[in-house]
Amino acid sequence: MKPRVGVLALQGDFSAHAGALQRCGALSVEVRTPEELHGCDGLVIPGGESTTLLHLLRSSGLDEAIGEFHRGGGALFGTCAGAILLARKVLPAQHSLRLMDVVVERNSYGRQRESFEGSASPLPPLGGPPLSMLFIRAPRLRELGAQVLPLAVLDGDVVLARQGRILVATGHPELTGDLRVHELFLHGVVEAGDALRNRYNRLKTNDIFGSTEAHVVSPNRAAP
Ligand code: GLN
Repeated sequence: MKPRVGVLALQGDFSAHAGALQRCGALSVEVRTPEELHGCDGLVIPGGESTTLLHLLRSSGLDEAIGEFHRGGGALFGTCAGAILLARKVLPAQHSLRLMDVVVERNSYGRQRESFEGSASPLPPLGGPPLSMLFIRAPRLRELGAQVLPLAVLDGDVVLARQGRILVATGHPELTGDLRVHELFLHGVVEAGDALRNRYNRLKTNDIFGSTEAHVVSPNRAAP
């Protein structure tokens, strides 16, 4: 079955992500409310303006919903402002969802006119030819926690990293036509959460029917 991936569509460059996901064979849906997150296997948090996105996340209730989605096995992929929102700590200080153990510095490469296309070097296990990303008022990862795996570097800076079911890119791979990062998200990160998500959905269904997990997982019991 095709993975179903939400793209947070509150603000920013969400349509380029939807296109990249579809080209990789996923079903992409726009997410603006917590309800629209239900049934998704993963969520992309696109670039934009992190301060505006934070405000919109709060007013829609998606800030809480995204945390719960992740705890229930959902995979997350943040690009640029999306990476800022997922970080444990933001410089200069700003609220965030605090889901990934990284410290991120906003606008670390300068202003809009200092934007550039960078050719990052993929690290093992990713490997392969240089990875092209656009850096637009991009953040820099200043600290990576012990559980964070660096996946690509540009001039000594980690620009792509993963922690469990969370992937972040400080640039924009969705704007260059290089689909490898979206493929990694779909086939490495989203698929890795499958078992956990299935279990969580089963537990949720049981909650709704006031049942316990044992009723559902032991078919022997139902047999007379
Ligand atoms: N500078 C923006 C911020 O801090 C991020 C820019 C982007 O997402 N392209 O939110």
